[in-house]
Amino acid sequence: MKNWDVPLWANLDTARERLFRDLSRSIANERVVPAMERVPRELFLPAESRHLAYEDIPLPIGEGQTISQPYIVALMTEALELRGVEKVLELGTGSGYQAAILAELSRQVVSVERVPSLLEAARQRLTSLGYANVEFHHATQSLGWPEEAPYDGIVVTAAAPSIPGALLDQLAVGGRLVIPVGSRYEQDLLKVVKGPAGLNVANLGACRFVPLIGEGAWAEE
Ligand code: SAH
Repeated sequence: MKNWDVPLWANLDTARERLFRDLSRSIANERVVPAMERVPRELFLPAESRHLAYEDIPLPIGEGQTISQPYIVALMTEALELRGVEKVLELGTGSGYQAAILAELSRQVVSVERVPSLLEAARQRLTSLGYANVEFHHATQSLGWPEEAPYDGIVVTAAAPSIPGALLDQLAVGGRLVIPVGSRYEQDLLKVVKGPAGLNVANLGACRFVPLIGEGAWAEE
């Protein structure tokens, strides 16, 4: 069979079924995987890697950045404990894939991104997919988007050297912050709950993200 005869969509369907079946086994929250099933990941990828859309791997999206592995997206989303009424902040729009899933599961999503070309592409993608409850902003040097704080959930899809105080300030009491913390090359995925009496931090496991750039995180290389 010649390359252009490969039935891409048929192959994707098989991989898709397998991926979501596997994810449903490891993700207990019953809303997360069905929400992911409603978002076509292939539309968030460059043409050359669309055939890999439903493999459980991170993939390059240009500008040296990556779309996260679906399992990690599911794990981070689950940790936010969304019921549908929340206002959620995402740092690191990237392709917009995580933002679309958050839009499926919460009331309002605010997503910030440093790289203007990625931000614009994600904005157009989500608009054409019909998401009306996501707003996009170009990140400044200071982390997050304090203008619309407090947030019930904050998800950081890039790695920080420590838990940034600026993000804790933007989190509502009772809110959840999900963030990879560690070195530039390997991190632990932390779930931080801001209780009335202080922080509760749980480690969800090892992960590897691109660096979060800005005040209170990493300097640009
Ligand atoms: N959530 C994305 C994956 C993001 S990759 C998706 O679903 O596709 C991490 C992104 O974080 C990169 O695009 C990078 O440019 C961005 N980033 C890095 N530092 C940032 C900051 N301080 N604020 C916002 N975005 C940042």
